[in-house]
Amino acid sequence: MYSVSAQVNDVALVKVPLQVPSFELDVPAISDALAKDSSIKLAYLCSPGNPTGQVLRKEDVKSILEHQSWNGVVVVDEAYIDFAPDGASLAEWVTEWPNLVVMQTLSKAFGLAGIRLGAAFADPAVAQILNNMKAPYNISNPTSQIAQAALSPQHIKVMRKNVDLIVTQRERLLEELPKIPGVGKLHGGTESNFLLYQVLDAPGGKPSNEVALAVYEGLAEEKGVVVRFRGKEHGCLGCLRITVGTEKEVDRFLQEIRTVLEGIYKSSGKLDKKEEQRREVEANDVIA
Ligand SMILES: *Cc1c(COP(=O)(O)O)cnc(C)c1O
Repeated sequence: MYSVSAQVNDVALVKVPLQVPSFELDVPAISDALAKDSSIKLAYLCSPGNPTGQVLRKEDVKSILEHQSWNGVVVVDEAYIDFAPDGASLAEWVTEWPNLVVMQTLSKAFGLAGIRLGAAFADPAVAQILNNMKAPYNISNPTSQIAQAALSPQHIKVMRKNVDLIVTQRERLLEELPKIPGVGKLHGGTESNFLLYQVLDAPGGKPSNEVALAVYEGLAEEKGVVVRFRGKEHGCLGCLRITVGTEKEVDRFLQEIRTVLEGIYKSSGKLDKKEEQRREVEANDVIA
């Protein structure tokens, strides 16, 4: 979304990939990029990352905040921070660092994506700039009322209870997924409400985008279970991003992914033929 938003606003982008497979910031490469181009105004970091599920190291963020020559603002996106261990947030750092903005949202742990509300924590001078730039329309009244209710102590407790349930199911997935033939290594961290897992070309084999995509399609089309295929993201070969659900949803998911993988390995020859037929039909459609 960062690149989509940049493009929509005609803002240029410099990408510095995370290190692979640690998914940690490549601090020297970021520092270099910032030193080389003084027209860069914002550095966007995501913690926990999506789809990495990993909290960034505080020392690494500090190094970027302390950059010797660059004079821009570091933005840390903490959309998933409520699923991370206590103390992971950098929100309090904005009192110490005028060049830091921390963003959070009610879309994830609060389950309120529909009200479209987030928050930015910033130095008063930066907050003033944001206020000066924003459109004259304020947060809508229904959004404001729901947000105020959701952020009351009573309802924060509800959010925490839901997070605890999700964390329990996250631990269950970490325990159970490795027992399923064809599920590879956990990739990235365990600090969000999803996990990134490799899918293998055969039990005990290598990560495979082809099989990961087939698992995704099998789950979605035949089982009504939707995970995200992330095999084309940097350093995520063969990876599925699995959102942690309720106990029942996790039951279903564990059962269905086992069945789908079994089916794929058993009939990989047949699968190729099916795919061939699909392509033939597609080609004929184009000709027609
Ligand atoms: C969901 C998400 C957000 C916040 O989305 P909004 O619904 O617009 O608040 C921000 N960053 C990441 C990485 C997300 O996944």
